[in-house]
Amino acid sequence: SEASDENLLKLLKLTHGYDSFKDGQLEAIKMVLLGKSTMLVLPTGAGKSLCYQLAALVLPGVTLVVSPLVALMIDQLKHLPSAIRGGLLCSSQTMEEASETLRSLQEGALKVLFVSPERFLNAEFISIFSSSSMLSLVVVDEAHCVSEWSHNFRPSYMRLRASLLRGRLNAGCILAITATATTQTLCDVMHSLEIPSTNLIQSATIRDNLHLSVSISGNRIKDLMALLKSSPFLDIKSIIIYCKFQSETDMISKYLCDNNISSKSYHSGIPAKDRTRVQELFCSNKMRVVVATVAFGMGLDKRDVGAVIHYSLPESLEEYVQEIGRAGRDGRLSYCHLFFDDAIYFKLRSLMHSDGVDEYAVKKLLCQIFMSDKLSAEEICSLVKESASRKFDMKEEVILTILTQLELGEVQYIHLLPQINVTCTI
Ligand code: ADP
Ligand code: MG
Repeated sequence: SEASDENLLKLLKLTHGYDSFKDGQLEAIKMVLLGKSTMLVLPTGAGKSLCYQLAALVLPGVTLVVSPLVALMIDQLKHLPSAIRGGLLCSSQTMEEASETLRSLQEGALKVLFVSPERFLNAEFISIFSSSSMLSLVVVDEAHCVSEWSHNFRPSYMRLRASLLRGRLNAGCILAITATATTQTLCDVMHSLEIPSTNLIQSATIRDNLHLSVSISGNRIKDLMALLKSSPFLDIKSIIIYCKFQSETDMISKYLCDNNISSKSYHSGIPAKDRTRVQELFCSNKMRVVVATVAFGMGLDKRDVGAVIHYSLPESLEEYVQEIGRAGRDGRLSYCHLFFDDAIYFKLRSLMHSDGVDEYAVKKLLCQIFMSDKLSAEEICSLVKESASRKFDMKEEVILTILTQLELGEVQYIHLLPQINVTCTI
């Protein structure tokens, strides 16, 4: 057929100048070209965009790419190879710009169109597709946002269901892509988009150029300073430090500045203009450290982040995996360190060592520690009653995974995730 491996390889060379496909790419492209809705899970930097770009070139109609952030759309539009005519619809455009794009779309001049999920509220937009069969493919980028189980869940993404995309818009096929993947999230996304379980393409979620380490710390700010002053962190130019609270990020970045380490904090309490400025300073290597909450990083286009440090435990394993994925996108050896609070560790350990695992006590403590530091006994009890809730289970998962591994003994290497060696520097 036209889309033989050989022809796709030729197309790759012609449009992108590359000589071979990376893991998962050819497989994903072929699935889509067969009209099979597919879930593609590859780590950040693995080349997911190229999959829909090549598919879009071969498919007869239009490819819609749904993206959660305007900055992401602009970035992806910019990176389209010249052979693909692309367009973008977003709320910050003028009416003229939008109608110009819609005109090109209806004239069949666009191959790829980037839109936000809110666009599907627009009846005029919907009718373009519902009255035609011009839509070959819908790409749901950052597809984990579809799932309520995900830490990045977006209500506007709930709209993205197979009944809308395939049913009303007549999309030939759906390609969901993400770097984040707990089983729970994947199941949920695949269910919403009606992607059969056989159509999942997934590779290791953590790149092997990332060196992961965990330490138990009784004084995290002191240990953080020591870490930053020791090899290899000492020589690393660009570092992200993740914290749980906005106040922590401000406090730590000030502390670093006082110690002659150029740094600024980044969180959603900072005005958008200033946040952009922080990101620019960081990306242009004018500032060494960003101290941030979970708000920082999506769509970050910096390939040489040398280290990601977790000052606080992330809320879930998938959040952890996504955040460390921002290190070493250039393929160079990069370092990810997580501080495990001393007090948390010892309390949890004693609970786990009491006759059998006292699940109730562990959960109660986890609530106390991770939901908030200042809860009344009553509040804790009610939280424990809710302990079957989704979010809670994910926090529990990351803590218990780390803990159980630390429990394996005074070993130097622990396994945080399958196939990954984690140096434990207790
Ligand atoms: P992702 O979306 O998975 O994070 P991108 O699509 O942004 O990754 O791709 C990361 C980088 O890898 C880009 O610079 C892209 O051009 C490059 N890339 C993609 N596919 C290949 C390939 N087959 N060979 C070499 N480089 C590739
Ligand atoms: Mg991408």
